[in-house]
Amino acid sequence: MMKCQVCDENAIISSAVGAYCVAHFEENFEKRVLDTIKKYGLFRDGETVAVANSGGKDSLSLLYILSKHFSDRNKLVSITIDEGIEGYRDRTIETMKEYCASFGVEYKIYSYKDFFGKTMDKITRIKRGIPCATCGTLRRYLINYAAADVNADKVATAHNLDDEAESVLMNLLQNDIDKLLRLGPVSGVVKTEGFVPRVKPFMFVSEKETMLFSVIKGINAVHTPCFYAGFGFRGVVSRKIKELESSRAGSKAHMVSRMMSMKAKYRKKYFGRSIGKCAQCGSPSSGTVCDACSIKNELTATAV
Ligand code: SF4
Ligand SMILES: [Zn+2]
Ligand SMILES: [Zn+2]
Repeated sequence: MMKCQVCDENAIISSAVGAYCVAHFEENFEKRVLDTIKKYGLFRDGETVAVANSGGKDSLSLLYILSKHFSDRNKLVSITIDEGIEGYRDRTIETMKEYCASFGVEYKIYSYKDFFGKTMDKITRIKRGIPCATCGTLRRYLINYAAADVNADKVATAHNLDDEAESVLMNLLQNDIDKLLRLGPVSGVVKTEGFVPRVKPFMFVSEKETMLFSVIKGINAVHTPCFYAGFGFRGVVSRKIKELESSRAGSKAHMVSRMMSMKAKYRKKYFGRSIGKCAQCGSPSSGTVCDACSIKNELTATAV
């Protein structure tokens, strides 16, 4: 049995970052998250941080750590997007409410139905193509709206190392250098009015580590997969990255660190640019009308 690298206890995890017992794993996990927040200046004392909370293990673990270490210095507000997917989001919303109450964090829910006029279940019947592509655009839009609505300075998401490595590979394969260079612990085009910067405190911890942390902390989020998940390109890329990591441990971390060096190299060219506004809703947009408004217009034109 492998031993913890800090003490004499048996290790419960051994990965590219080391072997740890329960207590030292927990300590190391929290430390790496806090180091990421500090190193990249994800948020500062006094700022309001909106935490995007799906009610799943990842976002509840993030909310746990942020409420433990920052609730005396920052105002935290949990925001949940209700896509309107029966048998999926309605269940995780109940879990989200329970944990927000136990962590003492205020929560708000924003739904597709209220903002776009239709639930995701209905949208999939109207709009052709991969559901996740539409859903992702609408969710990003609504998270930004929600964060601005609660006067947040930053919006924290529970994106982990696996998610980030997937995004790196997807953008490379799709030859989308702009999107690739917008990844990182602070994502998006930061200096645009109306855009609340998104920060990722979990960017350097893996999905497996996050899962283990949530189990140790007794966060019992039921894993209910979304009915539409896995159809898109992300599903394919995700499976490939898991294969790669199991044959070469540390591959995900290497991909992400290469992206970070590219970002540093091209920072001047790509960052600090500001973009225009959507003619319809006024939110930040590189086109005349933003992607969310285009989808909304398409949905309004199709009566179901
Ligand atoms: S899996 Fe796809 S459709 Fe389901 S909630 Fe996520 S992005 Fe939306
Ligand atoms: Zn130990
Ligand atoms: Zn718009």
